[in-house]
Order: sequence, then structure tokens, then C-alpha cells
Amino acid sequence: MLAGAKRIVVKVGSALVADAASGDADRAWLTAFAADAARLMQDGTQLLVVSSGAVALGRRRLGLTRKALTLPEKQAAAAAGQSLLMRAWEEAFEPHGRTVAQVLMTRDDTEVRRRWLNARATTETLLGLGAVPVVNENDTVVTEEIRYGDNDRLAARVAQMIGADRLVLLSDIDGLYTADPRRDPAAWRLERIETLTPEIVAMAGGANAGAGVGTGGMATKLAAARIAQGAGCATIITLGRRERPLGALGEGAAATIIEAGTTPAAAYKSWIAGSLSPAGTLVVDAGAAKALMSGKSLLSAGVRRVEGRFGKGDAVLIVGEDGAEIGRGLSRYDAVDAEQIAGLRSDAIEAVIGYTAGPMVHADDLVKG
Ligand code: GLU
Repeated sequence: MLAGAKRIVVKVGSALVADAASGDADRAWLTAFAADAARLMQDGTQLLVVSSGAVALGRRRLGLTRKALTLPEKQAAAAAGQSLLMRAWEEAFEPHGRTVAQVLMTRDDTEVRRRWLNARATTETLLGLGAVPVVNENDTVVTEEIRYGDNDRLAARVAQMIGADRLVLLSDIDGLYTADPRRDPAAWRLERIETLTPEIVAMAGGANAGAGVGTGGMATKLAAARIAQGAGCATIITLGRRERPLGALGEGAAATIIEAGTTPAAAYKSWIAGSLSPAGTLVVDAGAAKALMSGKSLLSAGVRRVEGRFGKGDAVLIVGEDGAEIGRGLSRYDAVDAEQIAGLRSDAIEAVIGYTAGPMVHADDLVKG
């Protein structure tokens, strides 16, 4: 199920990271996980971990032993626990020579396009350097209104952001069942799901009710799978509470896979082409038009005129000097900066606006018309 994957996002829940009895990090599990992860990376797969566990690890350190905590208490526990969590991940990956990198996100980082572009650029850079980004929600500062609240959905948004092709949700159950297998002996596990029909979504109700110390049940897992599917990413739900869940998948362990439907690149491009209304227009010369048609990025040098008011990361129309649409894409500069650098060579950008963000529209963010 992981064979041939280019980018994998693995969501690891609190129940796996933190030992329920002691409240400390489960080092044995993390070490075994890191060994499997390192092996996949050795084979050329990039891997990102979305890890819960900050609250679970921090609460005991602060003496917060009551079962139900208030929101400020949870946030305090997360503040104390996040560093313990990262230390545990660091120790797990260290023997494999892999650097882990903490990325704390809030919902705005995946929903406000400008911040999304920044978060994506940082994460891409880390992956390119062979590091393992370890993502969690920035629990300490988010308010109730702007929280993801569960790391299943956060993981799906991250998978979408980086164009991952597999999202692995390590769960306390080995897949999606037709009913709760702990109560209904006739329940059976769905092996492969192509379409998330209302019937399938209904099956998730209560199927994972006793979900240990984690937050998300099967319903949030399916919500995550839906986000991933729309982004061209397959979701695999499998049992995390075993020694080597990633390795086990390779050896045919039980799981439910929700198929992707499309590829991450195609999903991303159809999002640019279909869902965003252009906030401005870049008029380009014939040379740039030709470069775009052959799949290249739009450089500032080829931009003749800038029309409209748009921010960094907004969608823009790209038209030829005759006004005919050539494509659409996300601008790396706002309209004011774009206007100043239009016609300039890439190496002259910084001197004029004080920074450079590369091409005006990168080929990855561009759809031909
Ligand atoms: N972000 C929370 C933590 O690290 C967990 C959220 C979740 O488990 O879904 O403790």
C-alpha cells in the first residue's frame, strides 16, 4: 500500500506516542516507527509525521491529572508537552541520521492562501533536505473558534498542502468496519473504498467510540479521507498499536484504503482553474507566452502590464498582448510589487522591492488556458 509512494503523511495519535500508564513517551514504539520510516525514506519516499501527544505528555508534568481539563489547562499542558514530544521524536530518528523539524500550524496556515504558500514552501524545503517534519497544531495559542481540534483533519490538510499521495491514519482499530466490531460480531472490515457514499459515512458512526486518549473517532477519519481524496491522496486507516505499523502495511496488514480518484497535481490544478476567481491580470509578451505553453514558469521579465489589485498568492489571469487568455495561476507577488518588477530580469528583483520570491507565477501553480 505504500509501495511507489512519493510523499507520505503519517498521523500518529496521542495513544501511540504517550504510554497510557506512565504518561511518558513510548520510546520503544517511536524507535520502531522511526526505523520503518527511515527505511521508506532510504527508498526515496519523503515522509512527514503529524504527531499528537503534546497534551497527553504535558498534563502529568504539570500535575493536571483530572480526566477532563479546561481549554486553558489543555493549552498549558500542550505548551509543556510539545517540547517533550519533540525530544521523543528527535531521539527516535537520531540513530537513523534523520533530522526532525517541528512545524506548529493553526487552521489559518492551511486556509489563508498567503500563509498556506509560506507553510508549503517551508515544508517542501524541509522534505527536500531529507528532514522529517513533525507537525502538530499550535495548541497553546489557538482559540476554540480557529482550532482544527483533531489531528486527523490537520493531517489531511497537510497532505493536501504538500501534494502527498498517501495519508496513513494510525488508529486504534485496523480499518473501517460495517459496524462496531467490539459490539457486533457480524461486522466486517471494508478493504477498499472508491467513493465515500452516505452509507459508508453512516457506518463510521460510533464505530470507534472508545478511542482512548485521542480526539478523533472514525467519523473524523472519514472527514479527513474526504479532504485527502479531493486532493488526489489515498487514505489508509490501519492499527497503530502494534510494534511496526508501517512495516506491517508492507507485509499485508489489515487496513482500509480510501482511494485517491485523481493525482495530487491534477487536483491542485483543477482547484486553481476551477475554484478561484482571478483578482487581477498579468499581460505577457510573446516570448513568455511561448515559455508558458511549454510548461515553464512565468518570469517577471516577460510581464508587460499588471492589472487589478491582488495580494500575494491570489489567483491571476495570464493573457497575451492581444488579450487572449493563456492560463491562470497564483502570483508570488502582490499587484504593487508585481507592477514594479514587471519587465525586470529575475536577478534585478531584490534591488527594487527588497526581496525575491522567485518567478512571478511558478509552473507548479499555473494552469494553461
Ligand atoms: N494537538 C493535540 C496534542 O498534541 C492532539 C489533537 C488530536 O489528537 O487530534 O495533544
